[in-house]
Amino acid sequence: MKPFILLRPATLSEAAREAARPGSEVKAGGVDLLDRMKEGFDSPQRVVSIAHVPGLDVISAGPPAKIGALATLARIASSSDIKRLYPALAAAAEGAATPQIRNMATLGGNLCQRPRCWYYRLAEFDCRKKGGPTSSLCWPTARSSTRSRPGAGGRSCSTTSSCGRPRTPGARMS
Ligand SMILES: Cc1cc2nc3c(=O)[nH]c(=O)nc-3n(C[C@H](O)[C@H](O)[C@H](O)COP(=O)(O)OP(=O)(O)OC[C@H]3O[C@@H](n4cnc5c(N)ncnc54)[C@H](O)[C@@H]3O)c2cc1C
Repeated sequence: MKPFILLRPATLSEAAREAARPGSEVKAGGVDLLDRMKEGFDSPQRVVSIAHVPGLDVISAGPPAKIGALATLARIASSSDIKRLYPALAAAAEGAATPQIRNMATLGGNLCQRPRCWYYRLAEFDCRKKGGPTSSLCWPTARSSTRSRPGAGGRSCSTTSSCGRPRTPGARMS
């Protein structure tokens, strides 16, 4: 992993300011980001940990119901309010990953994680999402690929990430 500066802002405005600086990446639970950094897939110069920003882990019934970006999957799964109001959401959170990961993984991080596609994540492969030399190719969905996922042939890449940024400016996010 390449060296980086770790910042621990104590307020939301400070966190937003630091996160907006070039070379910065937000860290919530770190499950996804630290994996990417350890694999050398991402090397931010500055990691902005939002773990100590107060109020971001709120879960309240409302109305309207509120779930903060730092609420963990484990807390969403076990919240009596979420189970009552949004049982499908509670079940989805309960069904994700493992207990250890659910204890660390946050809602914001889950929504913003980079695609969990090995072709996208491994340095050995180029793909449409990375915008490299073979940027028109999506390995799992390419009809001719012998590594295609069963049943995925020909469809466009479905590994989206709502907060994700294209690797190159203007690269198409499918
Ligand atoms: C073994 C394993 C199994 C898994 N199984 C599942 C599964 O079954 N279902 C599933 O959905 N997921 C699964 N995951 C993915 C896991 O849920 C996510 O990696 C996790 O939710 C990320 O949350 P985090 O808080 O650790 O995010 P981080 O790693 O801290 O951040 C992830 C990304 O989101 C950005 N980010 C985080 N919070 C914010 C914010 N508030 N604002 C803006 N950007 C933000 C970060 O900059 C980073 O780019 C699995 C992961 C592993 C390792």
